Parts: sequence; C-alpha cells; structure tokens
Amino acid sequence: MPRYAHATVVWSYVKKGGDKRVLGPASQRRSGVEPITEPAGQGGRAHTLLLPPARPATRRTAASPFRFTTTVCGGAAAARSHHELPFSRQDFQPSITVSAENNGRQRQPCPMMSCVPAVDGSDEVCANCGTTASDTVKLKSCTACRLVKYCGVDCQRAHRKQHKKACMQRAAELKDEELYSQGHERPERDFCPICTLPIPIPMEEHSVLKACCMKRICKGCAMAALKRGMIDCPFCRTPLPDNDAGVLALLQARVGKKDPDAINHLGQEYMQGSLGLQKSMRRAIGRWMEAAELGSVGALYNLGVAHERGAGVGQDTAKAAKFYTKAAMQGCVQSRHNLGCFEGKKGNHNRAVRHFLISAKMGDKDSVEAIKKRFVQGLSTKEQYAEALRGYQEAVEEMKSHDRDEAKRLGY
Ligand SMILES: [Zn+2]
Ligand SMILES: [Zn+2]
Ligand SMILES: [Zn+2]
Ligand SMILES: [Zn+2]
Repeated sequence: MPRYAHATVVWSYVKKGGDKRVLGPASQRRSGVEPITEPAGQGGRAHTLLLPPARPATRRTAASPFRFTTTVCGGAAAARSHHELPFSRQDFQPSITVSAENNGRQRQPCPMMSCVPAVDGSDEVCANCGTTASDTVKLKSCTACRLVKYCGVDCQRAHRKQHKKACMQRAAELKDEELYSQGHERPERDFCPICTLPIPIPMEEHSVLKACCMKRICKGCAMAALKRGMIDCPFCRTPLPDNDAGVLALLQARVGKKDPDAINHLGQEYMQGSLGLQKSMRRAIGRWMEAAELGSVGALYNLGVAHERGAGVGQDTAKAAKFYTKAAMQGCVQSRHNLGCFEGKKGNHNRAVRHFLISAKMGDKDSVEAIKKRFVQGLSTKEQYAEALRGYQEAVEEMKSHDRDEAKRLGY
C-alpha cells in the first residue's frame, strides 16, 4: 500500500521581482504523493509542497530537518485547526464486565498428538500417511498452522477431520502473536514534522492540522512560529485562507493528488457537514474506504468507529474490530485502546490488558486508567499496572518540549 510521501525539503530562496514572488523549497522527492505547485498570482506566491524526510531512528537527538529563511509574509488569516478524529474518546471508556473470566489463557501444547510437528527436519513425514520426504516426495506445510506437512492434497484432505482442531488453535495463536507484537510504534503521522517529536494524545488537542499540506503541527511549533511573526503555515508557508471555501479548495487540491490523509480528512468534513459541505455519512464512509485503500491508518480507525456505532453503515462490531485491528497493528493508539475495550466488554480481561499495555506505553492515559481499574478489581496484576504506568510516563517524557510546555502555559 502506498504510504505517505517522504522528501527532503530545504527552503532555498525567496525571490522578489516583477509581478511574481517565488518562495519555494528545493527538494529531492523520493516517493509518494505528488507535490503541489501553485502559480503566483493576485498577490499569491508560488509554492511547492513537499513532505519531510523519513523520521530518523533516534528521534530524540534528531535535528529539525527544516531550514527556514526568515521571511515574514503578510496577509492571511488565523490558523485553523481540524480535528482528525471525529469521535470522542469518552465513547470508548471501558465498561468492566465481571463475568466468565478468560484470564491466564496461555498457549497450550498441541493436544492432537497425531499432528507431527513439521519443524523438526530430521523426521519430516507426511502427517497422514507417514511418507518421508525425499528427492521424489516433496512435503508441503499446512499453511494455516505450519504444524504439519503432507505429501499431497489427498493426504491433507484425509487428515483434515483429525487435524482441524489443532490447526485452528495454532492458527489463532499465530494471529494473536501478530496482533500483540505489531504496531508498538506510532505511525509517521503522529510525529510533528517540525520538531519531529511524537504528538501527545489525543492529538487533536495538542496539534493543528493544516489543509495546505495536511501536516499536523504540534502546538509548541505552531506557537513558536506565531511568536516569530509567521502567520502562514509553519510547514509549507502557504497563506491560510480566512474562509471555508478557501480551506476546502486547499484540501481538494490534496485530495486531487490522492493524498490518503486528505481524503480521510475530507470524509470527516462530510461527517461533520463543515467547510460548507452538506453533511453526509454515506459520503464520509466512501472517502474513508478510499483513504483506507490508499494506506490511511486514520481512515481505518474512522471506519472502525462508524461500524461500531452503526453510523452511516449497519452496526457491526465484528467489522469494527477488524478495522481497529488493522489500524492498531500499524500503530494507531486509539484503535489499540478500543480493541482493549472490546475484549473487556467480552470479559476477556487478560486480552484487554495486553492491548491496554501497548497503548499505555505509546502515551495513552486512558489505557493506564483502564488497567488501573482492573487492578483495583483484581482483574490485572500489580506488575501490569506498574509496567503500564512506567511505560506511559516514559512516553510522556519523550513528548515534552520547551515550546510545548510554553504553549500549554499560555493556553494556546
Ligand atoms: Zn501422505
Ligand atoms: Zn494446519
Ligand atoms: Zn513540533
Ligand atoms: Zn502547509
């Protein structure tokens, strides 16, 4: 799936003269979304939008990849912020059901002893007929469980009834291993492109989304830019329109370039009926489906919420869980938290805590609270609560900056 574009952006020159002012980044685009170039005209400026370099492995020490000229541009309007996530987190507070407890369900050894493990190369035999692998007999693993091998489809079919239970159990375990081992890192979009630090959660409270470049800029960087007198977009320097039509035009331009995040965001505008658009959940869902196909993790989350609530689509918890799962495995913190809530509602507190531990360590306070509640009720261990708290605090430390503290202090 195409992911967000990365490009190195160096603000190279500001040229004034004739009827044109050109402010543009020299860049080496590497992949992904097309840059937008708009002509100068009517006092406007040509600009090329490009996206930031890939986040370095060591984020803490990474210097900002941007070199801004000290140009202050006049005109333009107040910054607009857009909420990326359309539903409130309160909707997902865990409801603890103390019922049939599924705690401590660990991986069990395969009970079907007739299923010969396929991993041991020395006695590679067909699980059905016992034929040994040779130059002429090639054995194929059961793709679902990889526990057994067969000499052919006939043997696989003949063995099916006997193997089914062990196969399904192992397949579920493999799926769980993936579910709980992937998505521990927040996605690219959760990082401010200017200071490169992860944005605190909930992100919409701690950042502003710019329709010009679809960049989510942390409030620390946004405020620092304002203090320097820059009222244009601090990332791409597009003057910000002061009306909905202008913002929508910027957004549509990104949508036209198949930017998944812009398409996702347009869906949210349809859902809210904002920017002069007629409210339509049907259209919102359509945009989210398109954005999800193009790789937007936020769109997967939105689709999860829509299916959970039955908003614009039939209510379908299983489908919602599928969307959340896909998003959580790509690092969507809210989706991970919601998966934990789903498991909690089913009484699977052990599974719930496993999810909450992941999202807590990614900086989600609600997940720490969810584990704390379970600890108080004896549904999670003291160690789990301590681990969640410690992980959360480390994540919070990582998200701190002088500018962010300042923005908070000033109530920005
Ligand atoms: Zn066989
Ligand atoms: Zn199998
Ligand atoms: Zn920042
Ligand atoms: Zn911008």
